[in-house]
Amino acid sequence: MYNPKSLKADEFISNEEILDTLEFAEKNKHNREMIEQILEKASPKKTGRGVECAGLSHREASVLLACDIPEMTEKMYSLAREIKEAFYGNRIVMFAPLYLSNYCVNQCVYCPYHYQNREIPRKKLTQEEIVAEVTALQDMGHKRLAIEAGEDPVNNPIEYILECINTIYSIKHKNGAIRRVNVNIAATTVENYRKLKDAGIGTYILFQETYHKESYEKLHPAGPKHNYAYHTEAMDRAMEGGIDDVGLGVLFGLDMYKYEFAGLLMHAEHLEAVHGVGPHTISVPRVKRASDIDPNVFDNSIDDDTFAKIIACIRIAVPYTGMIISTRENETCRNKVLGLGISQISGGSRTSVGGYAGYSSEERPHDTEQFDVSDQRSLDEVVKWLMDMDYIPSFCTACYREGRTGDRFMSLCKVGQIQNCCHPNALMTLQEYLEDYASPETKAVGEALIAREIHNVTNPKVKEKALANLEAIKKGSRDFRF
Ligand code: SAM
Repeated sequence: MYNPKSLKADEFISNEEILDTLEFAEKNKHNREMIEQILEKASPKKTGRGVECAGLSHREASVLLACDIPEMTEKMYSLAREIKEAFYGNRIVMFAPLYLSNYCVNQCVYCPYHYQNREIPRKKLTQEEIVAEVTALQDMGHKRLAIEAGEDPVNNPIEYILECINTIYSIKHKNGAIRRVNVNIAATTVENYRKLKDAGIGTYILFQETYHKESYEKLHPAGPKHNYAYHTEAMDRAMEGGIDDVGLGVLFGLDMYKYEFAGLLMHAEHLEAVHGVGPHTISVPRVKRASDIDPNVFDNSIDDDTFAKIIACIRIAVPYTGMIISTRENETCRNKVLGLGISQISGGSRTSVGGYAGYSSEERPHDTEQFDVSDQRSLDEVVKWLMDMDYIPSFCTACYREGRTGDRFMSLCKVGQIQNCCHPNALMTLQEYLEDYASPETKAVGEALIAREIHNVTNPKVKEKALANLEAIKKGSRDFRF
């Protein structure tokens, strides 16, 4: 029986509820009156505390996703843009993945790291190699990483992951520092989540891959990840272990996207119902080609238009959740979806173990790659590209360092308050990037952007302080934050 408050995977992600939802959505997909009402409910409203959005239930959002009336889709896109603008403004947070190890005991059929893949060399970074990788990432300008590892209790035990996190935070090269380490490792125990929390991680990210239990079990035929309930209930254990920022995601292409969409929103509703805080981020990866993986064998792939619509509908349904897009997507696709709700993107990414140090921005090792990178531009190119479109690339990590995580982040975000500090923080961290890492062309575009954007800081005291900090950064000071 469907129960968002239950701690049992089968009850908070109920197959029957999803099937009923899909039937309801199909029946109402041309019901203009209902669709208008749903859009109206989701629209930002001015309140005494700022701007607020009601969000949508998985049923309501599924009706939007099913609707194929072009005029209504346009309305969804403009609402998604409006919501994004209200809570995230034109800031885009930058990050890069760091692959620690591709040893894995699972048999995920879509992932080249699966246990039976004999084609792929297995590699695990030593602490010295991590120093080299992180130094290279710092020299690009990154401040925020997402660490990735296969599941292997012998080769990648929690102690190894903790040691890597420790090493990453300890490296201070020139003006560089990694200020936030997000972690994407397999589902684990409450005790291990507590250890990750104590190690100072940012978000714990775990993709569900698919919410369809039967498909899940087929796609993960062996290994610890085969256990659907253990995987699906991982975020509850993470929260029990004290991690308040968790990141959800579906690997689109594995099962029917409408099913995944409803499941993803039910998962978000469950976290809100049980822990009082929804997911910090949602990622929307699509299956890509990789060593011994042909994405065409998965017959649920979605085209770019459907992908864009999914992103817009997620933005409308969970207005305060950050949304991430990786370099799995190419420049054209990223461009299309940025305005529809994406708030974080990776840049200059390498998806191989040891892919950064010793390689120029044109060279990329393919031997241990997890998937083909579509957007192969350097971080500097991505930063300039964003600024040319009037986005502010942000290297900010202030919220979590100031304790604004979980419900504290969400409650500030919910009344639009987060923008009072996010905007100047984005500009200050961009200024750091321009001083330390940008090419002359990127620096010129960035300086002009900051000069324009500083006037959008409305609080005169904050603006004055931010201006002083920007000057101090030009003179060599670093790491200011509101
Ligand atoms: N091992 C960890 C786990 O079990 O969740 C996570 C790390 S894995 C390096 C990160 C994610 O990459 C997976 O959760 C999966 O969604 C995604 N992935 C795996 N194979 C992929 C492929 N061929 N194309 C695109 N994404 C893929």
